[in-house]
Amino acid sequence: MAVLDESLIHWLKERAEALDTHPAEGDAVLARLAQAGLFAVGVPQAEGGTGAGPAAAVRVVAGLAEHSLSAAFVFWAQRAFIECLLASPNRGLVRKLMPELLQGRLAGAPGLSNAMKFLGGLDRLRVSGSTVSGTMRLDGSVAWATNLHRQGFVVAIAAGDERGDNPSVIAVPHDAPGLQREPDLDLLALRGTNTAALRLSGVAAGEAWQLHPQARVFLPAIRPAFIGLQCGLGLGLARASLRAARHAVGGGHSMLAGDMLALEAATDDYAGALFAGLDDGRLCERPRELLQLRLRMVELAAGAVQLELQALGGRALLGAEGRAFSRRSREAAFLTVVTPTVVQLKNDLAQLAVQRPQ
Ligand SMILES: Cc1cc2nc3c(=O)[nH]c(=O)nc-3n(C[C@H](O)[C@H](O)[C@H](O)COP(=O)(O)OP(=O)(O)OC[C@H]3O[C@@H](n4cnc5c(N)ncnc54)[C@H](O)[C@@H]3O)c2cc1C
Repeated sequence: MAVLDESLIHWLKERAEALDTHPAEGDAVLARLAQAGLFAVGVPQAEGGTGAGPAAAVRVVAGLAEHSLSAAFVFWAQRAFIECLLASPNRGLVRKLMPELLQGRLAGAPGLSNAMKFLGGLDRLRVSGSTVSGTMRLDGSVAWATNLHRQGFVVAIAAGDERGDNPSVIAVPHDAPGLQREPDLDLLALRGTNTAALRLSGVAAGEAWQLHPQARVFLPAIRPAFIGLQCGLGLGLARASLRAARHAVGGGHSMLAGDMLALEAATDDYAGALFAGLDDGRLCERPRELLQLRLRMVELAAGAVQLELQALGGRALLGAEGRAFSRRSREAAFLTVVTPTVVQLKNDLAQLAVQRPQ
């Protein structure tokens, strides 16, 4: 069964370029993905979802990434926030936010890369909380967050105490007094993703908005879902570039035939291992395997984009064919730097090797 319906594919194809280059194009994506019913995929039925296994949502990410990585990353952000709710013990907050997020009426923004780096020992927490008259007040900044819709968003952040200790994870609504959304970042790609920085000065964070009291418990628990979903980004991009490479060389024999067959087979094998490992729960229990797959995803996409370039030759820097290639090469660059970045993945894998040498 097709993951995306034809009308959505048509819609994405028409806008892929604009979604990458124009901030204004981002506003329609969330509503269009919600209209296709995609945010419910892979969410338990008891929470309003389709009940399909985790691989189903990754297939959606890959399907979107074949046409537009911007749309796929907006989907990732919304689904990643939904994963935060699925792991939260705060049922009141889940009941309040889940229907809005599933319907795309509210945008979910996981502003957690700083917290993930903090847990990996790579950064300090950039948001701190201090208790004033019994209420926690948040101060600091979030350098990057995607899906910050001006019409309404909720962002997930981690905040420690004044010394950066005992971090908790909190949802902050867009209209919280003291929260300031900066203008969209001047990105060279994925400009239609509503990506910006946030400043917090004295933002009240009552318990009603707490996703989890212990970031050190919560973040490792949601990380496999975040990372598993991201694996779909490069899978879709690799498929798109391989298809474009085949189209570019036409039906005749090409010097690149062997490389293309090998990368197509590697991409198929990758998809098989990823989907099976997510649905049978193995990848959740084996962090090293999941991180290796996440790293491999970046390599596959980069390899496919490189092959597309070789297949196009000089046309890669010309006109319509060149524009699509150029977008995909920028999208591949993004995969190297999105948290966990390739550097962070290598760091995590090195730490795991020290803890549990093979
Ligand atoms: C379009 C876009 C959207 C984004 N959306 C979001 C979002 O929604 N939410 C969110 O939270 N973030 C988001 N981000 C942020 C992103 O995911 C990463 O956090 C950020 O791009 C990478 O951090 P970094 O620049 O510190 O790179 P890193 O790879 O962490 O660091 C880069 C540099 O630091 C050095 N370095 C790092 N670790 C070590 C080490 N252990 N030892 C030695 N040197 C080291 C590297 O060698 C390199 O020079 C987004 C980014 C982009 C581009």
